[in-house]
Amino acid sequence: KCLILVGPPGSGKGTQSPIIKDEYCLCHLATGDMLRAAVVAKTPLGIKQLKKPSCQKGFILDGFPRTVIQAQKLDEMLEKQGTKIDKVLNFAIDDAILEERITGRWIHPPSGRTYHTKFAPPKAPGVDDVTGQPLIQRKDDTAAVLKSRLEAFHKQTEPVIDYYTKKGVVSSIHAEKPPKEVIVEVEKLLS
Ligand code: ADP
Ligand code: ADP
Repeated sequence: KCLILVGPPGSGKGTQSPIIKDEYCLCHLATGDMLRAAVVAKTPLGIKQLKKPSCQKGFILDGFPRTVIQAQKLDEMLEKQGTKIDKVLNFAIDDAILEERITGRWIHPPSGRTYHTKFAPPKAPGVDDVTGQPLIQRKDDTAAVLKSRLEAFHKQTEPVIDYYTKKGVVSSIHAEKPPKEVIVEVEKLLS
């Protein structure tokens, strides 16, 4: 399965992707900016990632592609490899919900585990449950920066959803629901 998770910042993509990855044994390309850029540029790093043995069952792209041009480039690259995007999960959510999600987000950078002060609190404040290491807040996880990230999402990334809708591969998810309900919806769509 080759999946794309698309949705605004805070819609829950990063929370769901490790679960999807483990359940379906997919390779997760949560793509730091470097990897995203490498895939776009078709540099060896990006292509190598998609050809890794662990990616043979498929992969999840989380937060990429963000523009129609990136989507077209990605599709061209996959076509050359004899594969294609099977499904695009659209994390549909109202903008009004996202500020609370983003401003309460705490991250454990080494693992990518994500917590929320209200919706998914760690056992001890500011500390990763698994390693005991400190959690951080992203500098851009503020209401003001969210506003511009959301503008970019609506302008550049929503057209990506239209692009894949025309290809008949988009399924929308009620991303405003609690995480456990979201994963049930994802499982139904992927079964
Ligand atoms: P994204 O990767 O789409 O930017 P995250 O998965 O990082 O979003 O989620 C943003 C914040 O909201 C995190 O703090 C996360 O713990 C919390 N969160 C994720 N999914 C839900 C949900 N379904 N309901 C409530 N809070 C959630
Ligand atoms: P996420 O919440 O998924 O980490 P952000 O929206 O915070 O993503 O993006 C982080 C920064 O990297 C932003 O400044 C964004 O413009 C940039 N960025 C990330 N991925 C891409 C991409 N594929 N193409 C262009 N810019 C990107």
